Amino acid sequence: MSTLASHLPLIVFAALALSASAATRPPNFILINCDDLGCGDIGPFGSTRIKTPHLDRMAAEGMKLVDFHVTAGMCTPSRASLMTGCYPKRVGMHLGAGGGWVLFPGNARGLHTDERTIAEVLKPRGYATALIGKWHLGDQPEFLPTRQGFDVFFGIPFSNDMGQMTNQGRTRTNAPPTPLMRGSEVIELEPDQRQLTRRYTGEAIRFIEASRAQPFFLYFAHSMPHWPQFASDDFAGKSRQGRYGDSVEEIDWSTGQILARLKALDLDADTFVLFTSDNGGPIPRGASNGPLRAGKGTTWEGGFRVPCLARWPGKIPAGSVCRELAVTMDVLPTFAKLAGAEVPADRIIDGKDIWPLLAGQPGAKTPHEAFFHYHLGQLQAVRSGDWKLILPHAAWPDASAPNQVTLKQPELYNLAADIGESKDVAAQHPDVAQRLMRLAEQCREDLGDDSLKLAGKHCREPGHVKRARTLTPVPPRPK
Ligand code: MG
Repeated sequence: MSTLASHLPLIVFAALALSASAATRPPNFILINCDDLGCGDIGPFGSTRIKTPHLDRMAAEGMKLVDFHVTAGMCTPSRASLMTGCYPKRVGMHLGAGGGWVLFPGNARGLHTDERTIAEVLKPRGYATALIGKWHLGDQPEFLPTRQGFDVFFGIPFSNDMGQMTNQGRTRTNAPPTPLMRGSEVIELEPDQRQLTRRYTGEAIRFIEASRAQPFFLYFAHSMPHWPQFASDDFAGKSRQGRYGDSVEEIDWSTGQILARLKALDLDADTFVLFTSDNGGPIPRGASNGPLRAGKGTTWEGGFRVPCLARWPGKIPAGSVCRELAVTMDVLPTFAKLAGAEVPADRIIDGKDIWPLLAGQPGAKTPHEAFFHYHLGQLQAVRSGDWKLILPHAAWPDASAPNQVTLKQPELYNLAADIGESKDVAAQHPDVAQRLMRLAEQCREDLGDDSLKLAGKHCREPGHVKRARTLTPVPPRPK
């Protein structure tokens, strides 16, 4: 009696502490980012040529976001936004150095280590963090994922077409061999890309299993379906959309493996899974953007609007559709809010918390009054509400660039009525065009416009190293 009575306060305290920690344990996050997956390439977004049963089920169990956007029609700047919650221009990552559209092996630039990635924002809340797959924010040792908040990195630091591809029946003698890395070490050269999706998936599952006792953030960034596309024997030659479709069907399988493992580990109710793409699909490479105009490398909807699925059983309404504008920059503030983590307060963060949209709160609206479309450093378009104004601009950075056009007059599209941007209605709605033009002027003051030689007032510098080297040596030219 006396023993129980004397221990009672301790037992009550322990029970309270346990329930408090259970209540405050932050959710796990799995962010699946495909490379160059278009809006017409998966079942939930209308593909009939590529079979995606696992993504179909993910959509049925979660939310489909049909007005979800990236901040650039290409890899590096888009990924900089996803990681930092900022426009690429804000963090100096709108242009790979040396005039390239993205970072290439041995580039001296990278995402500045003073920038705070999602991984770094979540770390103080006790998260285990991993990047499995493609990084593309700098391959110098200073810029690797392990220096940007990720405990674990397994993957390729840039695109899968930037190496020699010697074991894929093609050799580029002037390129360094593609490095497959673990942490900051190169563990293989020119890995067999047919096995990439399968190997990434195995590593992702191992990370989930090893981290299950604490909250975790897994950034699973597929190398596929970026050109050249590969799939393992189980998927090669099986889809109705060629190699592109094969690689997407394997990504679908991979997502099914991840979701099945969450269920088996009883982590379903604790885990928020977001599935999206880094830019719109490249049509010449086999992608489809459904009804959207153009594709990768442009600021048309086909370049910026990407498929997005969000699943968190019990928290995100099953079978729901979000039609409000949301952007990859919103991922950081939203994850931070859910984790009880701090969004960096000493700098401008452009993304917003979109949890009210994801939770399906009645009447929830987009937090973005305006959304700005840059092609590299050039402001090309402004979105506000249903309206999108294409600004007059010269094809940039040069007229020979693919899909870039010169416009002498602004064009206005109503995306609610004309998602394919086919009917310019600027003449019918001059007031709307003027309102969006004013938003563009405010943006130019803030972020600048390189093609007009306007410096932004609130842009930060990218990281830069004095002596850049390739991670793997470029072989000597054959004599
Ligand atoms: Mg890409």
